[in-house]
Amino acid sequence: ATPTALLVGTGRGAQLGIIIKGPQVLESTRRVDTVVLDKTGTVTTGTMTLVEVVTADGESEEDVLRLAGALEDASEHPIARAVADGARTRVGALPAVEDFRNVEGLGVQGVVDGHGVLAGRPRLLAEWSVSLPPSLTVAMERAEAAGRTAVAVAWDGVARGVLVVADAVKPTSAAAIERLRGLGLTPILLTGDNEATARSVAREVGIEDVIAEVLPADKVDVVKRLQSEGNVVAMVGDGVNDAAALAQADLGLAMGTGTDVAIEASDLTLVRGDLNAAADAIRLARRTLSTIK
Ligand code: ADP
Ligand code: MG
Repeated sequence: ATPTALLVGTGRGAQLGIIIKGPQVLESTRRVDTVVLDKTGTVTTGTMTLVEVVTADGESEEDVLRLAGALEDASEHPIARAVADGARTRVGALPAVEDFRNVEGLGVQGVVDGHGVLAGRPRLLAEWSVSLPPSLTVAMERAEAAGRTAVAVAWDGVARGVLVVADAVKPTSAAAIERLRGLGLTPILLTGDNEATARSVAREVGIEDVIAEVLPADKVDVVKRLQSEGNVVAMVGDGVNDAAALAQADLGLAMGTGTDVAIEASDLTLVRGDLNAAADAIRLARRTLSTIK
């Protein structure tokens, strides 16, 4: 390889808002044929807002907001930020939380005002033998079919309500995914979120293959499995959850708007957090390589 061509390639990368870890990275982009895209924060903005509060029979909206809001205020997750901010706007100051615990990929638990509170996936509630009444199950299904994320809320062993948060697809995602396809890559949407929400987002951006309800620790196994099936895999992600998968991928691309852990685990950083830079990077690397040969 001639160093000049590589430098030109990486210099142009910087202009396009792509930071390349080293020249060896260009080589690994050549054979990439599959691109795994994290949903939240990568394909979507990751900036969620609380859009709906549903209560079980006899429960008060204010209590649901106050207890779930207080609990989520202790978490950094985008869903938690939306719940806490939305709750504070609607009911004012939130009480303190004790014994807070984050249950990765499922939700959060803690004690608020002496009540043991849970917020997250129905699976988290089920682990505490709490089941949802049909009215709340219907509310969750309806929200998820519309591409939203529903958070089930319970305290003292009883399901009390559902909070619905919405996250918008980035305006640039659909066109960027079409460009990735044009470069011969098969896009796959990967998320810890539920299947219905994931399918709805995938439909909106033109992705057919969806791998949903994947726990954070299992994302890396999805990449390994795709590799063992003979695919050369690029992974694009933003979260702490994505770091192992980004490192495992043949080419890891981190959103510059994402976490430092994801950026460190990656070969390329897309400074603006725009998926179009992923297409630019792959095109650029292929061009640079053909200049070298
Ligand atoms: P993604 O892979 O899309 O970035 P995560 O793995 O972080 O998503 O989370 C998976 C799912 O777990 C979320 O879609 C949500 O349903 C649930 N969850 C995670 N953290 C929380 C939280 N703090 N509050 C409520 N639900 C949560
Ligand atoms: Mg994410």
